[in-house]
Amino acid sequence: MNNLVEFRKDLVSGDWVLISAQKSKKPVFFTHEPSKALPKSKCPFENIVQSEQGKNLLWLPKKGKSDIKDWWVRVYLNEYPILITNKTCSPVIQEGLFFHTPGNGFQELVVMRDHARSFGLMTKEEIKIILESYILRYNALAGEPCVEFILILHNSGPRAGASVPHPHSQIFALPIIPPDVSRSLNGSKHYFNRTKRCVHCDMLRLEIREKKRIIYQNNSFIVVAPYASKVSYETRIFPKKHEPRFEIIDSRHKDDLADAMRVVLSKIYKNLKDPDYNFFIHTSPPKTRRSKHYHWHMEILPRIAIWGGLELGAGIDVVKVSPEEAAKILRK
Ligand SMILES: [Zn+2]
Ligand SMILES: [Zn+2]
Repeated sequence: MNNLVEFRKDLVSGDWVLISAQKSKKPVFFTHEPSKALPKSKCPFENIVQSEQGKNLLWLPKKGKSDIKDWWVRVYLNEYPILITNKTCSPVIQEGLFFHTPGNGFQELVVMRDHARSFGLMTKEEIKIILESYILRYNALAGEPCVEFILILHNSGPRAGASVPHPHSQIFALPIIPPDVSRSLNGSKHYFNRTKRCVHCDMLRLEIREKKRIIYQNNSFIVVAPYASKVSYETRIFPKKHEPRFEIIDSRHKDDLADAMRVVLSKIYKNLKDPDYNFFIHTSPPKTRRSKHYHWHMEILPRIAIWGGLELGAGIDVVKVSPEEAAKILRK
């Protein structure tokens, strides 16, 4: 089998999928459930943790330190990318009925220092440094000519798709706008065209009035269980002030975001007994200058349920814990 890495467009839905069929399969380091533990001695990231050199794209130390030996977060090119690391811009090619484009892009690993310290156990300062690394790399990748969207994500646990238990995030720089982002952008644009208001700002005003789905808030961020959650205990973090772009966040707001993440991720860790989860940031695409209708946010999706036929066959997500109940449990 030859390596095949390309985005293909579904002719009916218009959605892109990524076909990434590669010969060199990446090793999986998770032991079988229920244990999520992998001893440090077998952790592939401990090489990174031990070495003071390496091919860093970025490293950031703990507060008040400046030496690389005091690093807290390091960013690398992923050694086992599902994309082709390539700066070349490729057009969308039509072949008969179908459309495809090479799976070019960048895939970076954001590795935290501590083998067993997941987000639910971190301090606000530690999370703030990780946010800083996201922003610095986002801005570096946004300058790449062929990058249309940058997805910052974190997979925690095997059911969330992480292949290594050592805490790490990933940054994908993609040559297309992904389907979920496209739907979210179009939905908020339609609402804006109709009402001249941001749909997220309207929803947040209602949430603040009703209070029953609010999990936490500070000066500049609010955490809610969305009215139409996709999974049980879905949690979203929104800036209170309307802002399409995550990457222009200033220091005070970064502090408040780190606070909101610390509170909610530690509550998920404690109240739901450390479930597997994904979180990601949805923000306006870097090259879209006209997106004032959009409102950036972070989505946290615990991976508790398994999808059945109704979800896959009808696209109807069955949520067993109501968002109102989920908010009550996570507020504790
Ligand atoms: Zn490790
Ligand atoms: Zn808004």
